[in-house]
Amino acid sequence: MDYLAPATLEDAYRALEAEDARCLAGGQSLVAMMNLGLVSPARLVSLRRIEALRGIEPQAEGSLRIGAMTTHAELAELKHPSAEASLLEQAARVVAYPAVRAWGTIGGSVAHADPAADYPVVLVAARAIIEVGSAAGTRHIVAEDFFRGFFETALAKGEIVTAIHLPAVPKGARTNYQKLSLVAGDFAILSVAAIGNEVTVGGYGPKPVRMEDITRIDPLSDHRASAAYRRRVLPELVRRCTSH
Ligand SMILES: Cc1cc2nc3c(=O)[nH]c(=O)nc-3n(C[C@H](O)[C@H](O)[C@H](O)COP(=O)(O)OP(=O)(O)OC[C@H]3O[C@@H](n4cnc5c(N)ncnc54)[C@H](O)[C@@H]3O)c2cc1C
Repeated sequence: MDYLAPATLEDAYRALEAEDARCLAGGQSLVAMMNLGLVSPARLVSLRRIEALRGIEPQAEGSLRIGAMTTHAELAELKHPSAEASLLEQAARVVAYPAVRAWGTIGGSVAHADPAADYPVVLVAARAIIEVGSAAGTRHIVAEDFFRGFFETALAKGEIVTAIHLPAVPKGARTNYQKLSLVAGDFAILSVAAIGNEVTVGGYGPKPVRMEDITRIDPLSDHRASAAYRRRVLPELVRRCTSH
């Protein structure tokens, strides 16, 4: 297996043109999958040296741009997060435990699209835009369209998630994130993100779903919980999330 660590996005795009090449971000999901023999890429392209994938920058029109290589720990430790960043900071604090948070990145989590992960639900709730780059240029995809299903996204071969854009939160709207898991630090059985009165649910179906569409979804049944359990506890989790 090849291992490349380019310093620029252009070099990374070139490196990803090879057959069966994959980005490596924090390695917290990819290395685990490799260890289990679920994937065996011919080439790993590390994104760690690419400066353009770092940083959290307010933008002129009021949104916040978060570089894809921002770690969960950096988001969890934001001092005085803006209203836009607050929901993400709440979610980052309950991703796994410190060792995973030190390595795992928002770009990696978004690209991995685990239905039980913490960020997808928050990003759909926030109407975030996923910035995606390739040798052909940059695309901006709304989170709701980016997450397509179980570990499935709108990313095409050779594309890199370069940043996440969080639009300004409506003035005065409160944000809250609630996660239900078997033990602290585990993936979610269910999670709920609220901005004002708008509620989005994660872990219920293969991708985040807005509360008004929940009746169209059959809840997941997996090793964490049955469909009946998810259906039963959802109203209480929504109540906790919206009554704070
Ligand atoms: C023990 C444990 C507990 C965990 N608990 C939780 C939890 O409670 N909640 C939660 O949300 N997550 C949890 N995770 C997952 C963790 O958040 C991972 O960090 C995350 O899913 C992947 O991020 P990464 O940076 O490590 O990506 P990697 O593992 O490096 O990559 C994951 C996938 O994304 C691709 N990729 C990475 N970066 C990019 C990019 N910028 N553009 C395009 N493709 C890219 C890779 O090619 C790979 O396919 C846990 C992980 C572990 C090991």
